[in-house]
Amino acid sequence: MAANRTGGSPRTRLIAGNWKMNLDHFEALTLVQKLDWALRDAKVDREAIDIAVLPPFTDIRSVQTLVQGEKLVLSYGAQDLSPHDSGAYTGEVSGRFLQRLGCAYVLIGHSERREHHGEDDALIGAKIRAAVRHELAPVLCVGEGLETRQAGAHIAHVLAQLDAALEGLTAAEVPGLVLAYEPVWAIGTGETAGPEEAAEMATALRGRLAELMGEAFAEATRILYGGSVKADNAAAIVAAADVDGALVGGASLDPAGFASLITEAAGA
Ligand code: PEP
Repeated sequence: MAANRTGGSPRTRLIAGNWKMNLDHFEALTLVQKLDWALRDAKVDREAIDIAVLPPFTDIRSVQTLVQGEKLVLSYGAQDLSPHDSGAYTGEVSGRFLQRLGCAYVLIGHSERREHHGEDDALIGAKIRAAVRHELAPVLCVGEGLETRQAGAHIAHVLAQLDAALEGLTAAEVPGLVLAYEPVWAIGTGETAGPEEAAEMATALRGRLAELMGEAFAEATRILYGGSVKADNAAAIVAAADVDGALVGGASLDPAGFASLITEAAGA
């Protein structure tokens, strides 16, 4: 793993694009191909920064074929998975299927799933276990709503989400865990937490991880910021203390813009 930061941190930066329910499998191929060309043009050092796309389930096979066929230096993953491995769970997608498709990551507990699908802490914990069973790195999303932030309770709220999601798990049971701090008020709104706010939460999360899982695990865990990250604010965000990259929604749907964002983040 390449070092990505000063201060001896071994954490490689990660920029992950959450496509949400956008782009069919034809459009997915176009985006990934254009993204790769743009990153080559920009001469982004692909060993120094991890880049991932998180398409809808129906696109993943196409993305796999392109990435493997063209040997692209790009990871991909899913936006959700079932807590179950197989059986009578209509509409669900098993982590085993995602692993067979070469997925590296899976989002868990995104605020849109917590809000629209009623995902609670128990389900999120079960999904983390399912991801790990199938060697997928869970990207656990946490974040507070606007009222919680205005009340000054954001750190307590987010740490409680972390505690609940990791309840009963040891460091050895969650290899590759990634955290994504995504303030709900900043997702898709154009509002962004400033670098200081991102750093404040990332440092709090790393501190709590150290208490829960030990110092070494906390130091090795990547903590992303997500919420209206764009090319023009990416560098400042990823340079913030304890922030190791970004989870990007809307801005990951335009290949040229996403490549610029990655270029900025890689150079920060
Ligand atoms: C997201 O959905 O994870 C996200 C960060 O969205 P956006 O970048 O559009 O705010």
